[in-house]
Amino acid sequence: MIKRFLLTTCFILFTAGVIHAQLADIERVEPEFWWAGFHETELQLLVYGDNIGSSRASLNYPGVTLKQVISVENPNYLFLYLDVTDEAEPGTFTIIFKKGDRVLTHEYTLLEREFSSTRHQGFDSSDVIYLLMPDRFANGDPTNDEIPGMIEGVDMDEPFARKGGDIKGISDNLEYIKDLGMTAIWLNPTFENDMPYNYEIGAGFYHGYAATDMYKVDRRFGTNEEFVAMIQKSQEMGMKVIMDKIHNHVGTHHWFIKDLPMADWIHDQAVVGNTNYRTDTIMDPYASQADFNSTVKGWFVDEMPDLNQRNPLLADYLIQNTIWWIEYSGIDGIRMDTHPYPYQDYMAEWTRRVLEEYPDFNIVGEVWMQNVATTAWWQYDFPTASGYNSYLPSVTDFPLYRAIVSGLNEEPGWDTGLARIFYTLGQDFLYTDPFLNVIFVDNHDLTRFMTSVGEDYEKYKLGLAMLLTTRGIPQIYYGTEIMKMGGANDPDKRRIFPGGWPGDEINAFTAEGREKLGQKRNLPIPEVFEYLRTIVHWRNGKEVIHTGDLTHFIPENNVYVYFRHNEDETVMVVVNGSTGDYSLSLGRFDEFLYRYSSGTDIISGDEFELDSNLLLDGMRAYILELSR
Ligand code: CA
Repeated sequence: MIKRFLLTTCFILFTAGVIHAQLADIERVEPEFWWAGFHETELQLLVYGDNIGSSRASLNYPGVTLKQVISVENPNYLFLYLDVTDEAEPGTFTIIFKKGDRVLTHEYTLLEREFSSTRHQGFDSSDVIYLLMPDRFANGDPTNDEIPGMIEGVDMDEPFARKGGDIKGISDNLEYIKDLGMTAIWLNPTFENDMPYNYEIGAGFYHGYAATDMYKVDRRFGTNEEFVAMIQKSQEMGMKVIMDKIHNHVGTHHWFIKDLPMADWIHDQAVVGNTNYRTDTIMDPYASQADFNSTVKGWFVDEMPDLNQRNPLLADYLIQNTIWWIEYSGIDGIRMDTHPYPYQDYMAEWTRRVLEEYPDFNIVGEVWMQNVATTAWWQYDFPTASGYNSYLPSVTDFPLYRAIVSGLNEEPGWDTGLARIFYTLGQDFLYTDPFLNVIFVDNHDLTRFMTSVGEDYEKYKLGLAMLLTTRGIPQIYYGTEIMKMGGANDPDKRRIFPGGWPGDEINAFTAEGREKLGQKRNLPIPEVFEYLRTIVHWRNGKEVIHTGDLTHFIPENNVYVYFRHNEDETVMVVVNGSTGDYSLSLGRFDEFLYRYSSGTDIISGDEFELDSNLLLDGMRAYILELSR
């Protein structure tokens, strides 16, 4: 009873406040600027400022009309919908906000769109992606480790704390990534994550998945301008850049969460709780409404409010935020985090809109599903029961990841060992285009591959050889090239790269450093580094691996043989997953081998005659370029 009385009183005071409030300054207009000449001419401007909601807005600029002005529950917001027609030239115009005798003006700029061959290239199976976590890769600028006014600084001893890695660190080491043969870089999110931390419960936000401002690079990484310069440098060196985005959630300290525009901007955690993480509820024909609601409306974690993309104002805001970053920074692709968790209709529209503006662009959705069918469901043109089309070109191939890890670790049998990989790829008929799947043996959310294979470097090499020669777009997680280990706990698999920090004892960015690191850890790091580097460089020039057909043979004695072939050439991959030597009879492979007399292993350079059995070493992969 008392509570209700207080609420009513507050409401009266609040309403009275609105009536008498004066216009204060405009704090934000988002997007900060825009461009003339988009396919979609509608532009939403989110205007934020004390009591701006009750003002009258107007503008006067050739080719631009103010179509609609929307005020919402919170008087501090006003949404303007502009029509930026084909006639609008780049330039600056004034938006006028009036209330009573008070007038505010805001200068708004339309830029000219930039077209160049190094921007917005997309990515595909001709690429090898290097995934790195900006906070953990290299600290190129220790002066930005602590930013006055931002909540968290650097603590090198606390696993969940920030370590100070930044954009300069990435920029300084692009040559290293290029030398490794990588043709694309995927950065974990770079948006501002100015969040309060609680290391005891594992709440640290160095990872970037709890945005507090979606238009700004976290200043501990650098400025927006530094970010764009790094992307341009990378593209000029021949490496594309993939941005990590999240539309399922933001951080609790996001500026619009602290002053919500509307109650239904987010889902109410008090009602829906946290997500059940069971994204199968989205396509499961027998799923209950309760389970589905929990998946889609539940919060990812307590620090990440779940966005309601069915709020049309929010949907427009998020789509524009994406277009803004693509046009502003020139990025080549997006990796969308937690792709199945938002409303699927929103995700489809977001994807469609991005690809409409940027037809060469690519998007990979993180669809962390249990099996091939539910993964394939997310790829464009999948024949869903409802007719739903995701428009999503690329999906993350978790089923193949599991098959590789299990296949290398378990006892071989009818459907185990390398046969597990054979059977998993055999379900590719479910995918619209499995060659667009992003494939991996680990990433920032998974146990590092070296740890997954029980620190057995021979298994490690087999996994890498298969990853780089089967169908799909391979992704290598930073540190894989230097055999980094780490278990399932977040900080363990996201440790800093040795040599990235001033004063590091060993610098693994150099050959000498890798030699030292190998001696220190008693691991063949230089050999594995060269193994990976050799295959990647070879792969980069091999169209037959990018787009050639894949034909594989039922594994026998845990030896898996497959061919990549096109009209011009044939590559035979032979993987002996057992420790013993094996004499491989070649008769079964006649449909390919009848035209060829020898094969050259691109790793060792050894040449093999194909007129008799192939004598295979135990635990070895052969990548044979066949010759007549
Ligand atoms: Ca730094």
